[in-house]
Amino acid sequence: MARVYNFSAGPAVLPEEVLRACASEMLDYRGSGQSVMEMSHRSAEYQAIIDEAEADFRALVGVPETYKVLFLQGGASQQFAAVPLNLCALPGASGKADYLITGQWAKKAYQEAARIIDAETIASSADKTFSYIPTCADLPVRADADYVYICENNTIYGTVYHELPDTKGKPLVADVSSLFLSQPHDIARYGVLYGGVQKNVGPAGLVISVIREDLIPAGPVDGCPTMLNWRTQADAGSLYNTPNCWAIYVCGKVFKWIMAKGGLEAMREHNVAKAKILYDFLDESALFAGTVRACDRSLMNVPFVTGDQDLDAAFVKAASAAGFVNLKGHRSVGGMRASLYNAMPVEGVEKLVAFMKDFEAAH
Ligand code: PMP
Repeated sequence: MARVYNFSAGPAVLPEEVLRACASEMLDYRGSGQSVMEMSHRSAEYQAIIDEAEADFRALVGVPETYKVLFLQGGASQQFAAVPLNLCALPGASGKADYLITGQWAKKAYQEAARIIDAETIASSADKTFSYIPTCADLPVRADADYVYICENNTIYGTVYHELPDTKGKPLVADVSSLFLSQPHDIARYGVLYGGVQKNVGPAGLVISVIREDLIPAGPVDGCPTMLNWRTQADAGSLYNTPNCWAIYVCGKVFKWIMAKGGLEAMREHNVAKAKILYDFLDESALFAGTVRACDRSLMNVPFVTGDQDLDAAFVKAASAAGFVNLKGHRSVGGMRASLYNAMPVEGVEKLVAFMKDFEAAH
């Protein structure tokens, strides 16, 4: 069996130990005679799995008691609508929200919100193909905005907020999909933090939302489907209906893997070291160049180009043949992108850079 180095932006590489542990329990989960995939979500065995996953997540991230942790379906995109439907239904809400547009995912969230509420763009980096994070020192946050929204790490463009914006007292809502559990998250600074798990954390189709309790509607909301109302799953322990049982189980194993590696601070150090290897090379290369303003670079997603589309394509093809797969940039930007999530080993980045050096010498 030969495993490749997988630089996919998501679904993405998972820790081999986790995959092996899942495989070993596939036919018989701990003497139950069933796979977790076959198990009732109302069984005692499954309740123990979801309870342990939530407890481990809370301990790993340091989630305050005043926040709910919800395991939800529909991916991160489902939250694009859930955010305005819930937050603009709270008592005293104005139905207004302010968005920072730093890439396609922020834009999609904004567009979805604009269908439902009065959403406004208060900062954008669209003028330079989202290659930087706008200055957030004095944002024109509306006095009656219900929340301020960011996409904290921009998967497609490779930028990250190294500092969270000043929201002038409004709850900050952040999509952290592509940096979820890659570094510590100071939950108290957010009203809502959510992430699709298919990058650092587990299989696709599950989103984990961490929501301050006072931002969850008290009951049913007119115009908000039951399944999108956070109250529904908050009261049901994420078991209102059949959840994505398998994904929650795999995430539970990844939480334990991260804890065994030393937790989120250790993940950050590991990710800083890996990204440095690639960025240092890009900065000195005569052929390859990064596309992002240096101070806004993401540790997770590293886009780069040769400046020649044919050469980019030749590189992606040659890299793939050499076992470095999924390096093609997003279809909207072209070039290359290496995603360096938690489960990518240092050695994978070192070998990629060695391959890039050889390619550069040959071209
Ligand atoms: N937000 C970000 C930052 C993403 O990278 C992605 C997916 N790549 C999404 C949202 C959408 O996630 P999903 O496909 O789970 O809806």
